Amino acid sequence: MSTRTVAIFSLGGTIAMTTDPVTGGVVPALSAQELLDAVPVLRRLDVDLRVHDFRRLPGASLGFDDLSALADAVADAFRAGCDGAVVTQGTDTIEETAFLLDLLHAGDQPIVVTGAMRNPTQPGADGPANLQAAVIAAADPALRGAGTVVVLGDEIHAARTVRKSHSTSPAAFTSPATGPLGRLYEGRVHLHGPLAPRTAFPGPLTGRAPRVGLYTATLGDDGTLLAAMADACDGLVMAAFGAGHVPGSFVATLERTASRIPVILVSRIGNGPVLEATYGFPGSEKDLLGRGLIHGGHLDAYKARLLLHVLLAQGRRTDEIAAAFRTTAR
Ligand code: ASP
Repeated sequence: MSTRTVAIFSLGGTIAMTTDPVTGGVVPALSAQELLDAVPVLRRLDVDLRVHDFRRLPGASLGFDDLSALADAVADAFRAGCDGAVVTQGTDTIEETAFLLDLLHAGDQPIVVTGAMRNPTQPGADGPANLQAAVIAAADPALRGAGTVVVLGDEIHAARTVRKSHSTSPAAFTSPATGPLGRLYEGRVHLHGPLAPRTAFPGPLTGRAPRVGLYTATLGDDGTLLAAMADACDGLVMAAFGAGHVPGSFVATLERTASRIPVILVSRIGNGPVLEATYGFPGSEKDLLGRGLIHGGHLDAYKARLLLHVLLAQGRRTDEIAAAFRTTAR
């Protein structure tokens, strides 16, 4: 393989944290170059690294403006000839940022997002190994066409399926419905099968940010809070029980809301689809889809919210949004 070029963008997160003398807690402090310097083995790879110190934030404080600017910077790097990109950031929001980058990136070069569950002051800090694996993955032609992937613990997960499934475990990242796309060992990418086709919606996220609400069905909810939230939204994701079911008390509000703004029906479980044509009671998936809700397919609630955000920010009509969910959420 000839020399490959990979752009590195550091955003902060645990991977870049050191102890703050004032609070005694760890805070994002390390630059992208300092992260790379902690992994001398990278120098032995036949990879030319272009380093971008992009943000120093905890994952929870990243926003749409940061991610939109990052998507533009990554696109610039690809236009300048990079074969892949690595993003290092806080693991708290990786499952969302990776999917947002995936939606905004139409090219074939892979974007690999990574982070660390143990910070650099802890024994067994996983940042250096994850960074090395991410650079190898971003440089490997096997991931061309994969869109955005998440690499942690030597596993490669599709942005569309990955979830942070544990709050502290070093093996926190899983794809509950599908398993990982592949793994890294002996310095190479090994895919478990062919890459699935994906749909992207490149374009700027400009103008007023749409307000997309995410409401989760819970036992005994009388629907008062749902109605209050729905009134304040430009789009709504309804994270329903099981295969797409809500309390009967939600039905009138959801039908009224769906006549005004797009309302996406997903499951709150985060593993498996909402059904379409099995249950017939008021508040069932069949009932709600018949009242104008849009089928969210296999997407989990967080990812459905991001897809809806992108589509609304790009000014798409409700019928275009329904079509986009049909192709993306399979
Ligand atoms: N709180 C951290 C963050 O997301 C967690 C992490 O990086 O693992 O910035």
